[in-house]
Amino acid sequence: MSPGTAPTRLLVGAACVVMAIAAMGIGTATALDGAVLGPDEVILPVVARLPGGTIVSSTCGNQVVYDDGIPYGPVDVVLDPGHGGPESGSVGSNGLVERDLNLMVAFHAQLALEDLGYTVALTRRRDLHMPIRQRTAIANALEPKAFVSIHHNGGAARRSDTPGTETFHQVDDPESIRLAGILFEEVQSLFAPFWVPWVDTVHQGASTRLREPRAETYGILRMTPDLTSVIVEGLYLSNPPEAQLLALPQIQEMEGRAIAAGIHRFLSTSDPGSGFRPEFFDPHTTGTGTARGCVDAQLSPPVGITTGFTAEEHADLVATARALGWSTDWLLRFGVHTLKFLDDLPGTAAITPLEVDARPDAYGPITETIEWDQADHAVLVRMADAYGITRTEVQKLGATLMVFLAGLEAPTAPPDDAEATSDGASD
Ligand SMILES: [Zn+2]
Repeated sequence: MSPGTAPTRLLVGAACVVMAIAAMGIGTATALDGAVLGPDEVILPVVARLPGGTIVSSTCGNQVVYDDGIPYGPVDVVLDPGHGGPESGSVGSNGLVERDLNLMVAFHAQLALEDLGYTVALTRRRDLHMPIRQRTAIANALEPKAFVSIHHNGGAARRSDTPGTETFHQVDDPESIRLAGILFEEVQSLFAPFWVPWVDTVHQGASTRLREPRAETYGILRMTPDLTSVIVEGLYLSNPPEAQLLALPQIQEMEGRAIAAGIHRFLSTSDPGSGFRPEFFDPHTTGTGTARGCVDAQLSPPVGITTGFTAEEHADLVATARALGWSTDWLLRFGVHTLKFLDDLPGTAAITPLEVDARPDAYGPITETIEWDQADHAVLVRMADAYGITRTEVQKLGATLMVFLAGLEAPTAPPDDAEATSDGASD
């Protein structure tokens, strides 16, 4: 049988898909739904809890299925140790790397805040590649009263009599401005008594850096509009004397305590803070903090989903796969991704669940089992939810759609040749 031959039973199902797609309206944004704790204490924001599985945002910010998470949050404070993995941040002449320093300071800040009775989460608790999008998703999911990203600066060369501490706040947000002013006071005054040849820039103090009017350059601030968020750049790690100071464990602990003291003051007083500088325009960033090159840990093993076909349906499936030069496994996968692609088309909205009599019959004497990894499984689970059907029925629906779509065009090669050249069957 060639894919040009009308596969009658499958056609009925495909028509349902096309009608469902035509019925789409306006799309809706994905809302976060709390967070769970995964392996190695990673915090995974929950994107959706669906009948087929829980979809979380992975450490790389990908949507994956993970059902074994322990419910986590909300917390009072989220601390973000900046950088991680291949993104080192600044590096001191003594070899001190910003990603590691930020983490140590964050640990000390956490301990000090917990001593004061606050619940605290860190976006990462080890050296981990994590895009800004994921860091902010974690913060948003945990709904803290304060979100502070901890950094140490690079680049300044101008000599200064005082530490070049910088804090950055959200534009037009009085609480973020207040937190930035208090953190500037606490952190700079901690370092000020040390006799060190400091460096600074004109941005020493508390300010906001904008990429366009009323939009912060830093994603940490821009992507947490419902939170009170601040970035702290304690000192210049690029200045060798400051790097020497920062390498001392006692100094790392003191800085962590100073950050904790600032957050505590923010949460327990109405202190206004100080050191404010005018906002400035600078859309340039280091280009780090994206998901590029980020590799996720496997949170759960692949899941096998089996779909059944009648002999006639399966022959259509095999013929279609053959005509496209694909395996049936690949065709089934592609079918599900095509359903997702159609769902994601601009101007389209949630698919309406299929009527009971339009649901694909996913049981039959010939079966195909597809192994779905955590990311592809999330696509399958989403489509099952959108159509109100099971995962095995989604596989059938995707297969139906592919056979239908392939049947819309005349086969490019004579069917007999296709049959003769595949499978290597000899008789
Ligand atoms: Zn940094």
